[in-house]
Amino acid sequence: MTESELKSNVPTEDNGESNLKQVEAQLRRMTKVFMDGADPIVIRDLNGNVLDINRETERVFGWSREEVLGARTRHLLSPEFRELADDTLRRVQRGETIRNVEAAVRTKSGEVVPVLATVFPLTDENDKSVAYAEIVKDISELKQATEELRQRNRELKQFANVLAHDLSAPLRTVRSFADLLQAHCGNELNEKGREDLRYIVEGVQRMDRLVADLLDFTQVGRQSAAYTSVDCEQLFKQVLSNLHAAINETGAEVTRESMPTIHANATQMVQLFQNLIGNAIKFHGSEPPKVHISAEPREGVWEFCVCDNGIGIETESQDKIFDVFGRLHNDDEFPGTGIGLAICKAIIEQHGGRIWVESEKGSGSVFRFTVP
Ligand code: ADP
Repeated sequence: MTESELKSNVPTEDNGESNLKQVEAQLRRMTKVFMDGADPIVIRDLNGNVLDINRETERVFGWSREEVLGARTRHLLSPEFRELADDTLRRVQRGETIRNVEAAVRTKSGEVVPVLATVFPLTDENDKSVAYAEIVKDISELKQATEELRQRNRELKQFANVLAHDLSAPLRTVRSFADLLQAHCGNELNEKGREDLRYIVEGVQRMDRLVADLLDFTQVGRQSAAYTSVDCEQLFKQVLSNLHAAINETGAEVTRESMPTIHANATQMVQLFQNLIGNAIKFHGSEPPKVHISAEPREGVWEFCVCDNGIGIETESQDKIFDVFGRLHNDDEFPGTGIGLAICKAIIEQHGGRIWVESEKGSGSVFRFTVP
């Protein structure tokens, strides 16, 4: 029921008693929703003092209603969140609604519970803020699950790293013996023998590239990378010089708008741009590749964009391409290992950003990513 509906039910002299009963019933229902709500709800006056809490607040934090009534409870917040709480109070006093504020609250038994709160003003009949409410979500389980996932991820990367290392040695052996065989017996082999040997060498070369890329992937995020001020104009010159051969070979036209200076790991940024621009050049259609790069400031982040006129990607496959080995083509159509975009995603996530693609099959692709 909305506030105006509640107001319209206020009894007048004509409809007196029955409306009064209705209002009472509605208030009882709303009180029940408040008291038995599935999440903790705290109501405070405009100075932050507790006016009321529901049962779930008592259950999650262990403090009884009587213990917290009239208290500011700021001291129950972990110290690093106290300033944020003061700021939230100032904002809600101005009439703002603040969603998903993350904090940690100490319970009566001394445990610290991570929470996500939505804070909004409560107004009187003249729409004047008179108090505010906090709906608090206990996110302990979510946090624990996220930490477990992170740990699993680290273990998986560690496993892939060991695997790639262990595969390198036997691969080198096969490669050098294939080379020896070619050098010593190449002339004695017939046409079929030479062809078979070529397949072995090509197979080993492909495996070598896969292992090297897999090693690169497992390196991202293993050591804490050094962050410095990175001038993306300079970075570009380096990336274009690294891609010189591919640009010449395909007749690609690479253009860009002015680029910002960001706080990032320079080596990883070169790798990221090189993978994206390299792909934009590689996956071209019948026209020579045209690649355009831009960057725009958005709320607290820079949003970069690498746009091409290539073969495009159908909607159903757009998530898959960021997975390790997530390729949409075989090696004969477009050579590659399917690890480049997984590396890009790992780099961007390590920087606290997001990467995604907007594309349609046959109409080019736009890869976007953000860096805080
Ligand atoms: P690779 O380039 O080695 O195949 P990536 O991880 O870089 O691996 O890319 C994964 C897949 O995503 C590619 O195989 C391709 O199918 C698709 N893809 C990536 N970039 C583009 C692009 N600019 N245009 C069209 N398809 C792309």
